[in-house]
Amino acid sequence: MRGVPGRRLVLARLIALVAVVAPAGLASSEPLPAHAPRVADHDIRVRFDPVAKRLDGTLRLTWRNPSSDAVPDLWFHLYLNAFRDRESTFWRESHGQLRGVEMADGGWGSIEVTAMQIVGGADLRPSLTFEAPDDGNRQDRTVARVPLPQPVAPGGTIALDIAFHATLPKAFARTGSAGDYHLVGQWYPKVAVYEPAGRRGRAAGGWNAHQFHADSEFYADFGHYRVAITLPRRFVVGATGVRTARHDHPDGTTTHTYEQGDVHDFAWTASPRFVEITRRFVAASAVTEREYREAATRLGRSVDELRLSDVEVRLLIQPEHAPQADRYLDATMQAIVRFGLAFGRYPHRTLTIVDPPEAAIGTGGMEYPTFITVGTTTLLNTWPFDRFFEPEIVVVHEFAHQYFQGLLASNEFEEAWLDEGMTEWATGTALDAMLGRDRSFLELAGLRIGDLDYQRFGLSKSRGFEMIRQPSWTYDTGYAFNSYARPALTLRTLTSVLGEITMARVMRTYAERWRFRHPASEDFYRVASEVAGRDLTPFFRQTIESPAVIDYSVGAIDREPGYTAVSVRRAGDLQIPIVVAFKFAGRPIERRTWDGVARWTRFTFTNAERLEWVDVDPDRRVALDVSWLNNGRAIAADYRAPVAMTSRWLLTVQQVLAWLSF
Ligand SMILES: [Zn+2]
Repeated sequence: MRGVPGRRLVLARLIALVAVVAPAGLASSEPLPAHAPRVADHDIRVRFDPVAKRLDGTLRLTWRNPSSDAVPDLWFHLYLNAFRDRESTFWRESHGQLRGVEMADGGWGSIEVTAMQIVGGADLRPSLTFEAPDDGNRQDRTVARVPLPQPVAPGGTIALDIAFHATLPKAFARTGSAGDYHLVGQWYPKVAVYEPAGRRGRAAGGWNAHQFHADSEFYADFGHYRVAITLPRRFVVGATGVRTARHDHPDGTTTHTYEQGDVHDFAWTASPRFVEITRRFVAASAVTEREYREAATRLGRSVDELRLSDVEVRLLIQPEHAPQADRYLDATMQAIVRFGLAFGRYPHRTLTIVDPPEAAIGTGGMEYPTFITVGTTTLLNTWPFDRFFEPEIVVVHEFAHQYFQGLLASNEFEEAWLDEGMTEWATGTALDAMLGRDRSFLELAGLRIGDLDYQRFGLSKSRGFEMIRQPSWTYDTGYAFNSYARPALTLRTLTSVLGEITMARVMRTYAERWRFRHPASEDFYRVASEVAGRDLTPFFRQTIESPAVIDYSVGAIDREPGYTAVSVRRAGDLQIPIVVAFKFAGRPIERRTWDGVARWTRFTFTNAERLEWVDVDPDRRVALDVSWLNNGRAIAADYRAPVAMTSRWLLTVQQVLAWLSF
């Protein structure tokens, strides 16, 4: 219900009628790299006391200098100090509230480095200092720096032994404890990223470290992780990677050892209440030869390049959510196929999915390499709320992060859209295909909402826009809107400019070329331009790097016997070709293309029939258009009725969402 009469008719021609379809450049064949560079290897032993919520750990860090600089110091993140007190930058920004969850009283957490020594060498602990590169807050202790007695030579390696104590906060902001459930993320001293000159446009090499902010995620280097977790035997444990050993000790504790290469983070969870369900993704039976051939044709690749591999999927679910287990797992299996064919094989042997208790929903919906957290409510166990696709949406979204966060380690501090925006776009297109474009978000009591409608909720002509691409903590109008919905709508709009096939080839080439690397926005612009065979930088400058609001509308309509003139306006800076549809009484729908360069244009007709309606962008391909209500004008029918209906529905949906704390 968002168009003019006749919309249903033209929907069928949706894909073919793109204004300008650039020829799909032949994407060069680039085999996926098998492994990531080993910059930061971690060997961690940690003992967990679940009553005190205390971690006592040792870390052997082997860090390889990836640059041609002599590096004089090491920078670390001590993220749990975000929860240390009311003086942390995180607390000052969030005031103890995040994503609709309030930080519990007395739920403080922290981390302290108790020892730091070069293996066989100097004690570094006394020279460790806290830094506040973003806001100068001297009370913040989430970034630390240690000068080295001797610089690490270009390409050289340094090994450190580090000891730390940490206390988990009450479950909040992606990490913490609720009762006997624990989600342990960002929990060890985490070395920052040293960016060599040339990476992400840097003129000179240097550390890229940022404090823990209310609205920012992370950035880290790849390496091999081996983590041995010791805790009381009754706990079910899940973690990044593959469990390689399990030892029971006489004191009633058990050590679980996990290992994983080619990842840049490590998270784990423990609870005695988890119900464990495993399901194996078997590529040979999950994908047919025909599906491979179709994908190969679409992408201009060989079938062999597209082959997927098996994945052991392990769901750790709360008993009260068990009726939704199949929903999580079915959606995961489909996502492994879809994203695997679209963006390259998921290369890891395991995927662990953690469903948190409702008291710890702040730890839900988060991504770590090979390890994702989801979240739902018991309400969705039963009809009619089981048609609210929350479990599917969250698991597909978090799995999509395995690509745009896990395999392409973009800088989420500074360019969050490269992760969240691409993930949100990939999720929406996958859910459209899996559930139906008109209901990929929700189907409730006759009400259907697609992902596109959902993403467009935040659009409004009166809303001040700003640059999508900026550090996460510097947004004025909203991190979520500018890092998720707006970039997702931008990529949908780009799809309409390029056509589905070229867009698929752009994304495949980008995901392949930047696998196990750290892309910047320009790297994506470059791949897109190369594959499309034309310079797309102006498109990105007008969308990702611009605060412009984009709005097409019908202007004046001038009618005289035998003559009709319709003006069409463009507000905002996006100059792309656009289709305008005209319907005259007794004549077929007439579609004309406007190059969209000027601020407005006028279409004239000399036929005698009466104009019934006009519709700018009738297929609603420009997803970024802030208002679709002014795109069409019906001259004959009463146009207000459908508009009022749409508003009422949107209101209902917003109430449902608020109620579910989505
Ligand atoms: Zn996300």
